[in-house]
Amino acid sequence: MSKVQSKYCGTVSSSVSTLTSMSCNRHPNGPSKGKHVLYEGSEKPKYTCKYCGTTSSSISSLTNMSCNRHPNGASKGKHEPAL
Ligand SMILES: [Zn+2]
Ligand SMILES: [Zn+2]
Repeated sequence: MSKVQSKYCGTVSSSVSTLTSMSCNRHPNGPSKGKHVLYEGSEKPKYTCKYCGTTSSSISSLTNMSCNRHPNGASKGKHEPAL
């Protein structure tokens, strides 16, 4: 069984349908303003932010931090993992 993760918060689920039925508390529109969105990359030892290159060992720790190269403006959003 491969695990699926939310690209915004790193929540892990066993299926895409379960994952995307739950609210995401790190959704870019605001906490619980949208559902988890599937991270379409593969599972990695390290995740890299696609905007600034910051790396972290998990999606949840990467997306916990503000990104100073976020397209909405410096620190206007969280890091987002590259695929
Ligand atoms: Zn999420
Ligand atoms: Zn970043």
